[in-house]
Amino acid sequence: MKLILLGAPGAGKGTVAKLLTAIDGSVQISTGDILRAAVKDGTDLGKEAQGYMTRGELVPDALIMGIMGERLLEDDCKPGFLLDGFPRTIPQAEELKVLLAKLGIELDGAVNLNVPRDVILDRLTTRRTCEDCGEIYNVKSNPPKVEGVCDKCGGNVVQRADETEEAISKRLDVFKEQTAPLVGFYTGENMLIDINATSSDVVVADIKSALGI
Ligand code: AMP
Repeated sequence: MKLILLGAPGAGKGTVAKLLTAIDGSVQISTGDILRAAVKDGTDLGKEAQGYMTRGELVPDALIMGIMGERLLEDDCKPGFLLDGFPRTIPQAEELKVLLAKLGIELDGAVNLNVPRDVILDRLTTRRTCEDCGEIYNVKSNPPKVEGVCDKCGGNVVQRADETEEAISKRLDVFKEQTAPLVGFYTGENMLIDINATSSDVVVADIKSALGI
């Protein structure tokens, strides 16, 4: 499948993407994961992106489009991909449309994961992430078996630098101003699949039923 996953930080895009990859081998592409890996490796991209990320701001569109323009050409995207955290602004969505048309790729839809703000805040402050493989945990509902150690790869499970209360609040404001308008954009493109994502166990079934698979 070829899907865009829309939704606020903490709406469950990463978790849902991982579950969807298991269905047909489509690859998850998370711009946040790509950027965090670049920061960890100290690459030029990472150095440029780090400040924006720590402040909870968006990285400039040109940087993101450079990453995605290359990533979508890779062979593992051919069977399908789940775009997690991209596009994040109207200019990114417009550029993605042009890029996909050039590559002859048609999307199956843009899934909007709807979750109320109070649930989001609770999820983000209790979320923990593996620094190495990106696996997501929650200190209340889904902690790793050994505190601080990833069940999957043994990496360090940490609270992300942009998951302080101040950065979370900034990220939610940025989402409202710059990313929420994408719902209107994809409605206009006749691609929006709106999903109530408060209760995570029905989300994948609802997406599959909307796609008819
Ligand atoms: P995420 O893991 O998707 O919440 O992304 C973490 C951070 O990476 C965001 O707060 C932004 O600073 C940056 N980022 C990720 N994806 C994008 C994007 N598509 N456009 C701009 N910035 C992004």
